Amino acid sequence: MKNRIVVALGGNALGNSAKEQRDAVRETAIPIVDLIEAGHEVILAHGNGPQVGMINLAMDSATKNLPSFAEMPITECVAMSQGYIGYHLQRFIRDELKRRNIDKEVATIVTEVLVDGDDPAFKSPNKPIGAFYTKEEAEKLEKQGYTMMEDAGRGYRRVVASPKPVDIVQKKTIKTLIDNSQIVITVGGGGIPVKYVEGKGTLGEFAVIDKDFASAKLAELIDADYLIILTAVEKIAINYGKENEQWLDKLSIDDAKKYIKEGHFAPGSMLPKVEAALGFAASKQGRRALVTSLEKAKDGIAGLTGTVIVDEK
Ligand code: ADP
Ligand code: MG
Repeated sequence: MKNRIVVALGGNALGNSAKEQRDAVRETAIPIVDLIEAGHEVILAHGNGPQVGMINLAMDSATKNLPSFAEMPITECVAMSQGYIGYHLQRFIRDELKRRNIDKEVATIVTEVLVDGDDPAFKSPNKPIGAFYTKEEAEKLEKQGYTMMEDAGRGYRRVVASPKPVDIVQKKTIKTLIDNSQIVITVGGGGIPVKYVEGKGTLGEFAVIDKDFASAKLAELIDADYLIILTAVEKIAINYGKENEQWLDKLSIDDAKKYIKEGHFAPGSMLPKVEAALGFAASKQGRRALVTSLEKAKDGIAGLTGTVIVDEK
């Protein structure tokens, strides 16, 4: 069966430098083109946590050190990260398509995503961006006015608000390209958060949209069958990191809801993936989601590994 598949790549698996990212993307292009070669319609989304953090940090230090350099807002940093990551994805996917004599175009869309200015998320920033810091460094940054949070046992990071995606501004362009058999890279880093104000027009919002929610929104809007979230772990676990840790092959909607309530998934990392996957799987009959690692993508797609989230009813 030919499916319409949204593949969401985790920013944390894309490396921390241009070289690391090229190496990761060159490898990632292979299972993605396998899907295309098998006849599926593939739409790519990706995260940008470390990358937008890196861009942000570079811009921040330029602002500090060069008097003529004005501060660069987070929305513009997200736009830059879409270009930086999209460039590698389109380049290596195109080369891989060419190698297999598949005649398809691939392009990245600088994508804006509408958010609600009254989203409660603006009151409690919780989305980690950028570099990891020690506890001591984090305390110093907090005194400078940043909100800091511990991230899945890996250290401390800056956090910003993470409102839910309401709509994708470029959705008609995306659909047009898909309907014409082209490969689209979109909602990078969850999309550039914007709102529309009557009389003023489109305004950027100080926030970062979770790419897992943006990918699920994209999958819903383009009526995809399958949402594949590729991240740093092969499966979703309950009791993650504990002695009784248990890796899951399959997760039903009801179990997912139960485990969320019991607190098995870390906010800002695995929780949004489970919520996005279950939201998509529950949204229409026949839709399902898969969470697996970038390295295991091929096996996961073949049904050999990963965690499948599906509405059993
Ligand atoms: P991405 O860049 O792909 O969004 P994240 O770092 O945000 O990746 O999320 C993936 C991480 O979530 C894993 O590397 C793992 O450390 C963490 N994690 C937290 N809770 C769980 C869980 N219950 N099962 C598996 N991984 C988990
Ligand atoms: Mg993440």
